[in-house]
Amino acid sequence: MNEFGMRLRSGALCLITFAALVVLLGGNLIVLDARAQSQGDWIDVHFHLIADKGDLDSFDEAARAALQIMDAERIRTIVVMSPPRPRENFDIESLADIAKKYGPRIVMLGGGGTLNPMLQEAGKSPEVPEEVRRRFEETAQRIIASGAKGFGEITAHHVSLSPSHGYESVPADHPLLLFLADIAAQHDVPIDLHFDPVPADVEKPSNLSSPRNPAVLKENLGGFQRLLAHNRKAKIVWAHAGTDPVGYFTPKLVRELLGRHSNLALSIRPTGPFPGAMVPPKGAINDEWIAVLRDFPDRFVIGSDNFVVATRYTGPDAPRIFAQRAEIQRHGIRRLLSHLPADLARRIGYENAERLYRLRR
Ligand SMILES: [Zn+2]
Repeated sequence: MNEFGMRLRSGALCLITFAALVVLLGGNLIVLDARAQSQGDWIDVHFHLIADKGDLDSFDEAARAALQIMDAERIRTIVVMSPPRPRENFDIESLADIAKKYGPRIVMLGGGGTLNPMLQEAGKSPEVPEEVRRRFEETAQRIIASGAKGFGEITAHHVSLSPSHGYESVPADHPLLLFLADIAAQHDVPIDLHFDPVPADVEKPSNLSSPRNPAVLKENLGGFQRLLAHNRKAKIVWAHAGTDPVGYFTPKLVRELLGRHSNLALSIRPTGPFPGAMVPPKGAINDEWIAVLRDFPDRFVIGSDNFVVATRYTGPDAPRIFAQRAEIQRHGIRRLLSHLPADLARRIGYENAERLYRLRR
């Protein structure tokens, strides 16, 4: 056999191998798809569309990409919001247009780019000047008047996962956050709160290598519980249950706080590379988490924390890095929902979100 013949033969072998792979992959895809059909729809309450300030065309491009994902994944609704910005930024300006155009499939929260920076700035002092309080209230009321379904993404403690990802920390019972709880209660809307819990002062864990994190992480659970107790009509949706970069956001803590605070709910981000994940990328689903879900079936929703980034976006690179993990996260959500009994999958998948975010009205 000459060289040409050899090439032909190995080419044919490659083709056969490729065909076998397709059959194999096709088989797996059919299996995955059948699972998705049986596990029902879901609502994603924590979703970020990322584009530059005022670039509505790019927001629209990101929204259309999100809608394609929603169709493929049977996601009924996504709740979009600005990440919790450390400094005053844009917020709902373009998202309000997107929510008008694509509602009710895309709805928004507001405050991540306005209220959260005001909170972080005010957090440096326990006193809040009257002028700041007034501006904060005006902004919050304007957000709701613009059609937002609640406030988010707000943070009281947010660790940095890369040099382009901020560190933010304020006492969770800071007067402005208590005030926001009252405003949320007044409108019967939730606050989406990113809160990395720390039960006692600890040295920064070695995996949090970003230079933005402080050397010591301060105890913050006392303030969080005072926030929860401040106004029982304020629904606090604690984001990112199931994946915790710090190590204290455990099923045990969540069970304890759910038992004590009737106005606490959590959104699940099940998959991550951290120990104790609800749905580890490899290996079995975490039974301890599942037991909490079963014992508090009305208190959990799904929030993937997915980022869809517009092609023309020119900001820091963290959103693009997070966007690459979106498919792994959705796979984890499919795994979780298909693992749960049908009734619980329906409640956690979408019924709880419809009630908490009042999506049917
Ligand atoms: Zn977050």
